[in-house]
Amino acid sequence: MKVGILGGGITGVAIQRFLDHDSMVLEADDQPGGLCRTFFKDGFGYDLGGHILFSKKERVNELVNQLLGDNINQCRRANKILYGDRYVKYPFENDLGSLAPEDAYDCLIGYLRNDFSGSVTNLREWAYATFGKGISEKYFIPYNEKIWNISADELGLDFVERIPKPPMEDVVRSALGIETEGYVHQLYFRYPREGGVESLVRSLVDARSRIICNYRVTIAQRTENGWEVSNGEEVHRFDRLVVAFPIHEAVKCFPEIPEEVRRAVEGLRYNSMRVVLVGVGNETLLDKSAVYIPDPSVVTHRVCFMGFFSDRLVPPGNSSLIAEVTTNPGDGVHELSDEQLTYRVVDDLDRIGILDAEDVVVTDVQRLKYAYPVYTHGYRENKATVHRYFAEQGIDLCGRFAEFDYINSDVCLDRAMALADRLNSVS
Ligand SMILES: Cc1cc2nc3c(=O)[nH]c(=O)nc-3n(C[C@H](O)[C@H](O)[C@H](O)COP(=O)(O)OP(=O)(O)OC[C@H]3O[C@@H](n4cnc5c(N)ncnc54)[C@H](O)[C@@H]3O)c2cc1C
Repeated sequence: MKVGILGGGITGVAIQRFLDHDSMVLEADDQPGGLCRTFFKDGFGYDLGGHILFSKKERVNELVNQLLGDNINQCRRANKILYGDRYVKYPFENDLGSLAPEDAYDCLIGYLRNDFSGSVTNLREWAYATFGKGISEKYFIPYNEKIWNISADELGLDFVERIPKPPMEDVVRSALGIETEGYVHQLYFRYPREGGVESLVRSLVDARSRIICNYRVTIAQRTENGWEVSNGEEVHRFDRLVVAFPIHEAVKCFPEIPEEVRRAVEGLRYNSMRVVLVGVGNETLLDKSAVYIPDPSVVTHRVCFMGFFSDRLVPPGNSSLIAEVTTNPGDGVHELSDEQLTYRVVDDLDRIGILDAEDVVVTDVQRLKYAYPVYTHGYRENKATVHRYFAEQGIDLCGRFAEFDYINSDVCLDRAMALADRLNSVS
């Protein structure tokens, strides 16, 4: 059996690595990696948004260890939230004692005396029901409305499964200034010493790999014995297909997709993102892993300090951050040129004291069309319609935007291994 793997992000490359059958990866870009690529400019390395390696799945942790070998930095999270002019340890509810006393009081009393009643149907209501008024209004809702670029009322409850609920003891302890940690599954993480997160993808490529780059699939058509895939110039034939690239792009390639499935795909909302690298000629951007910024007047929602993850990503004596900016057509930010956005990012970060604009020595920008699947109302039904159709066609969907699931690279690896196992048992 010959398997066509459409899309050469970490998922597509990993499927091929674990597949016993003959296979070919077809990748639109000039290199594999997708969202796990790493870029370099003037000696400053950066990923497409802050990427860290951690997993609740032991087999994935073992795989990452085996793939990266010595090329691993062990890191401990040092994420902060910038609230007003104060840095609060992430997650917010685990460090209320770092707030001004009146803010800490609002958060604590709102949490303990939570008078939210009624049904919970969206993220806003869920926040009030879970955290109370203070935490919801000061941090949780403004931050989420920035990253998702949509009102919290429009986000459904499928999303909240990912958010750990803090134990009450932690919230009270933190408000009293007693050290607590939340989201402990990602407190310690790994990161490649050399080459950024892309080195994980590179380590999946071996002598058996067959990855065709600069090949943008435009048509995938069923034939008598299998599938014909084309980029408009060159045709490849396969017995079986795996879609490992965004479903919104995939539906354009299959001519016979029913209207109902097309509409379901249109109903799946995604956010685009621009990642702005800012390098400075000093070592001021090294002491934190990331800063979350709920303030709506600041264009970026999160900045990540690349030199914190690995000193090989910044030239000696320098440091850098990447600013993540969510965009959607029509929001006024999407329409900015890269130069305009960079100016705005640097100006904002200077104003809130994260860097000094005069120290900037390098900037760069990457655009991601597909950055975050957004779990709006109707997400589950639309996704089910799409998955059902592709399953009926005998086509496997695998990966973040193929499955349209808000998953990290560790889950992509896990699902790639599971799919390869399943296909290996088919002759
Ligand atoms: C801001 C941000 C932060 C993140 N942080 C983390 C983190 O901390 N830890 C973590 O583990 N994960 C993180 N992730 C998630 C991780 O990047 C993704 O889960 C993973 O990279 C998805 O891999 P994929 O192969 O499924 O999809 P993609 O990386 O999207 O790969 C799809 C591939 O298909 C190709 N393609 C598109 N159209 C076509 C076509 N027509 N023909 C052929 N090829 C095509 C694309 O070029 C791309 O290479 C983060 C993601 C973002 C955006």
